[in-house]
Parts: sequence; structure tokens; C-alpha cells
Amino acid sequence: MEGGKQAHADLRSALVREVKRLAEGHTHSRVPQSDLISLTRTKIEPMVRGLFSRAEQELVLAALEKSVVVVTQESIESIILEHDHDGSAWTLANLYLGSVDAGLLAHDAERLVGLSEETTCYVTPEAFQEEPFADFVVHEAAHVFHNCKRRTVGLPETRTKEWLLDIEYRKRETFAYSCETYARIIDRATSAAERRALAEDYGRDVRITDERVDPDEVAGIVMEAASVRNGWKIIHARCAPPRRVTRTSASTTRPSPTRSPIRERALGDPPLGLTAVVERA
Ligand SMILES: [Zn+2]
Repeated sequence: MEGGKQAHADLRSALVREVKRLAEGHTHSRVPQSDLISLTRTKIEPMVRGLFSRAEQELVLAALEKSVVVVTQESIESIILEHDHDGSAWTLANLYLGSVDAGLLAHDAERLVGLSEETTCYVTPEAFQEEPFADFVVHEAAHVFHNCKRRTVGLPETRTKEWLLDIEYRKRETFAYSCETYARIIDRATSAAERRALAEDYGRDVRITDERVDPDEVAGIVMEAASVRNGWKIIHARCAPPRRVTRTSASTTRPSPTRSPIRERALGDPPLGLTAVVERA
């Protein structure tokens, strides 16, 4: 047992060494100086208030505002050493390497800007740069809703309500992209007419390269959301699973929920990658 633990610690240390070697001479963009918790709260508050009842909003906000971890030169070592899962440590190492524009741990690994796991959102400093229609913090926080059980944040569970939000498995990215785009639109617009105009602008020039998402579908959802008072409800409704008849039928259609294979995790085979790093190290 002790020997196994030591071998495991050695693997992670080797991963840290390899990450430092690859990142040498590279730097990431500036980390926001302001209080991260209040910055996160500002970004996610409209979404939480639009999606949850008044009685539930404060508990959801309290969980989400503390959920963001910025992966930086200063934090990457402890993130790698302390994460429970080898695959995630490997993925987060790549997230960091991508943010400093260094070589990744595998030549075919995807460049990422964020990773959402249960109630934790890992983002790179570039997630805080202002974009017209993109907000990675909102995107990753939106994934928390379908990854996190109600009881985890202190809300009661019922027979039909186990997760913060039920999102159809294949619509999870559609949901997250729609949320981040809509969040930017309501932040920028000062009137209902301006919301619709911005949604039209977005629809004319959708730039989503994620192959799991139909950009036209996202544009359509955002357009519909921008046309009503509470667009968050539209986004949720259009990404929710079809109405379920019984608990049994629902459980057969829900894939393993605890860790979602979203864009942020589409990295080939992380545990094998970790082995490869260690062999080279
Ligand atoms: Zn995503």
C-alpha cells in the first residue's frame, strides 16, 4: 500500500517536471487582479437568478462563486499534485500548457480553455478577457449545473430533481455555448431591442468550431432567448431532456453523470498520456 502511494506520488512529480520543462520560457496572459470570487459572481449571477427559484438562488450562487480555479504558473504544480484523478491531472496539465502556448503532452491533444468537473471550473487567465459573445467562466459554470447534485449545494432532492439542472446529454455543449453567448448579450445590451440586435449580429457570424455543437442551433436558441424577458428559461427548455414518464425510464437514458465528457475533456486517453510522460521523464 505504501509502495503504491509512493509510485503514485512519483508519477505526479514526473508530470510536474515534464510540464515545467515544456512551459519553460513561456508565459500566460495577465491574471485579473480583482477579487476572483466577486468577479465570478458578477459573471454568473444573472444566469443563476434566471434559472433557479428565489428560494434556491443564494445556495447555488454560494457554491458557484467559489467554484472557479484559475490555472496559472503559480497554481499548476499543486493542482497536478493534489488532484484525485490521474486523467484529470493530465488534462489540467495540458490546459495550462495550452494557456502559455507551449507544446502539449501529446501531439494530438486539443487546446483547451477550461474544464468543468463536478462543482469546480478550471479556467485559464484568458477566460477573463472580455469577448463580444464568449465567456468561458459562464460556459464552465453552466456545465456545473448538470454535473452537480442538488444536495451537494444544500438543496433538497426530490424523486425527479436530483441534479441542479437536467440537461440532455447530447445538448450539454449547446447549453453551455448558448448560456455564455446570452450572458454576453444581456451584459452588453441596454434595451430589449438591443438584445435582439446583438443576437442577430451573433447569428450572422457564429464562430463555434466545436463539432459537437450545431452553430445554427445555438444561434436559434440565443435569438429566441433574446426575444423574451427571461431568456435563461428558453435556453434550459431547449436543452432539457424530453419529458420523462417514470424514474426507471429516465435512469436508463442518463449516461454516467459524475464527470461529463465535454469539449474540455476531449483529450484522447489521458491515463495513457500520463504513462507516456513518465516513461520519457
Ligand atoms: Zn463545454
